[in-house]
Amino acid sequence: MFEDTASALFGVEGLQVTGVEAAPDGAIEVWVVTDCEAARACPGCGRVSDRVHETVVTRPRDVRRAGDAVDLRWVKLRRKCENHECPRKTFTEWVPGLPPRCRITARLREQAAHEVTGRGVTPAEAARHAGISWPSAHEAFAARAGALLDQDPAPVAHLGIDEHRRGRARFAIDEQTGEYTLLADRWHTCFFDLDGKQGLLGQVEGRTADDAAYWLAGAAPAWRDAVRVVCIDLCSIYASAVRRMLPRATLTADLFHVVQLAVKAVGDVRRRVVRARYGRRGRSGDPEYGIKGLLVRNLEHLSAAQFAKILDTLDRDRYGQEIAAAWIAKEKLRDVLNLRARVTGSVPSERQVRDRLFAFYDWCAQHDDIPELITLARTISRWEDEITAAVLTGITNATSESLNRLAKLEARLAYGFRNPANQRRRVRIACTRGYRRRSRTATPRKTHSVTGRKPDPG
Ligand SMILES: [Zn+2]
Repeated sequence: MFEDTASALFGVEGLQVTGVEAAPDGAIEVWVVTDCEAARACPGCGRVSDRVHETVVTRPRDVRRAGDAVDLRWVKLRRKCENHECPRKTFTEWVPGLPPRCRITARLREQAAHEVTGRGVTPAEAARHAGISWPSAHEAFAARAGALLDQDPAPVAHLGIDEHRRGRARFAIDEQTGEYTLLADRWHTCFFDLDGKQGLLGQVEGRTADDAAYWLAGAAPAWRDAVRVVCIDLCSIYASAVRRMLPRATLTADLFHVVQLAVKAVGDVRRRVVRARYGRRGRSGDPEYGIKGLLVRNLEHLSAAQFAKILDTLDRDRYGQEIAAAWIAKEKLRDVLNLRARVTGSVPSERQVRDRLFAFYDWCAQHDDIPELITLARTISRWEDEITAAVLTGITNATSESLNRLAKLEARLAYGFRNPANQRRRVRIACTRGYRRRSRTATPRKTHSVTGRKPDPG
């Protein structure tokens, strides 16, 4: 409880404002004294002392007032301990908002930590605004982030696993051979809550099956049992980690990457055919070049004129027909994925999915003179169960990919990270910030008088 209005507005429990002056540099000088019974007690023995040894003025950093810097002057007493057996001969006063040996108020630390965790400001920028050093701001942020992130994740029904490049790959030229050798290529394996309640659950350094399994092994057995579906990109490394650590979960392949494979196959065929036909790479003016943008579009998004343009171009000769076969294979594969409940409104049966997959294989087999289609069909058949499960459940890794974008943005804001632990902390805070905001619920606050007196409007 504060005694006077100025102290209440200043708002540090245990400090009483005695004077305020405008400093020449636009800051305001706030003079305070200690107004706290507990501050008189010796921290060594707890005995209350009334003997003053000396008076000292400290200038701890404090939060700004309405945008202006505050130059805080705390006149505090060094007291003598009156207990002769106490090892502490003297002690200075302190209050909870400004613990001993602290040159920064607790609320300024809190503010700097909140800037980084809550608002996505970098520690360097938060430190500049608060007028404190980067290590102080970063330490405050790390303490707060630790409290937020150290809790064990709640059970997750749908888990996403994806890799994330931690920084640029580094190469060096070998003096003897003149070839490039890879010095560093650093990756993180990230685990996401695809139900959209917890964001990024955790990361480990590296992207091998053992790295992914290591993180999963660290989770509680009950948590692992709760995972029903795991979505991964077409990555056999993570598939083996999941089969080892989560044998009961259904593995699904991210359908975006499935379509991406098919689109790539169409492009590969087009480039090969153009080279065979003209003896050079494609250039603008070639009919095949003119439709390359249309070939990657979804069939249902093509206008009648665009569809006619594709048919016109590809129907002319055997080269065009080869591209057409790849394009139709892509659309046949998309037919499988279009059975998803999101598209049709009802959950398909496994039979339907396998039938359409068969139609795709059949088409590829009829065009076994096109090597790209054979490769595509082989890859798809290797992932057939995972693709079928993805179509049946409709679960994709879209959340993972969107959070990966946030992770990249964070690395850019920081101009890259040297310290992987700092990077993981920052990225995880960034990738859970939105979820924290959403889960916050309004708590009713009791109103109470802070000065101990009723406001007097007269
Ligand atoms: Zn003492």
